[in-house]
Parts: sequence; structure tokens; C-alpha cells
Amino acid sequence: MLAFIITLILIWLAMWAFFKFMYPKPPKEFMPKKGDVITPRECDFCGYPLAEYRGVMEAKPETLLMATDQQRKNELTSEIAALEQQIATYEKQASDKAYQKQLTRQQKKQAQSAYDDHQKQLFEKKQALKKVTTWFFCNYEHQADFHARNAEQITPTIVK
Ligand SMILES: [Zn+2]
Repeated sequence: MLAFIITLILIWLAMWAFFKFMYPKPPKEFMPKKGDVITPRECDFCGYPLAEYRGVMEAKPETLLMATDQQRKNELTSEIAALEQQIATYEKQASDKAYQKQLTRQQKKQAQSAYDDHQKQLFEKKQALKKVTTWFFCNYEHQADFHARNAEQITPTIVK
């Protein structure tokens, strides 16, 4: 019986060592850190969706934003400011004990769910704003290729 158990333990150890060797943990830089956005975003060069924190983001020059982009940017910016205001108000109320005492359980629950909702909206608006004002690429190579392709298109062809 003891021999059987020892054999099992040995097999388990051998398997563990094997898997440890076969599938090493990815380096730390690959893992999302706190505050990293893990929502996928499509590469502006090849269209491949990649978690945002793993790609390269580049701010578009102001001059390249079209009138519609500018308008959208302004809309989103003011919406974000309004949401941040509401969130700040809630957080202030939540830490105000005298104010909290006046509220019924129902009211507290509503305030909490409105707060969660605002947080979600804020995140979505921030992502939308980023999409308007930045480019996104899988890697530096795609970034370079994207600009090379654009430069080619912008250069006027000389007609003889
Ligand atoms: Zn790409």
C-alpha cells in the first residue's frame, strides 16, 4: 500500500515538473496591471482586436481630426465631465454620515446602483473618446506600416 502511494506521489511530482517546464508562466509585463484596460480594440492597421493595454496608442494630431470628430470629442468631453461631477457628488454623500442617516434602505440602494451605472458610462465614454482622438496598433511595426501607407496616399502623384 505504501509503495502504491509513493508511486502516486512520484508520478504527481514528475507531472508537475513536466508541466512547469512545458508551460512556463508568461513574463509579468504580459499580465494586466491595476488600471490597465483589458477591453479589446481593433488595430487601425490590420483590424485585429487586441486587449488595449497590450497595444500601442498614439494621439492623432489635432489638425487631422475632422469637424465631426471635433464635435464628437467636445460632446464626449462634456459628458465625461458631467459624469465625473455626479460620481464626485455621490462619493461626497456616501462619506457624509449625517446625510446617510436620513436615507431609507431603498434610497441607498438606488443611489448605489445609479453610482455603478455612472461608473460604467464613464468608462464607456472614455473609451469612445480615446477612439476618436487616438490611433491604436498591435505593435510598433503596425504603427510604422500604418504611417508609411498614409504617407504614400497623401503624397500627390505627379502627372506629366
Ligand atoms: Zn495590427
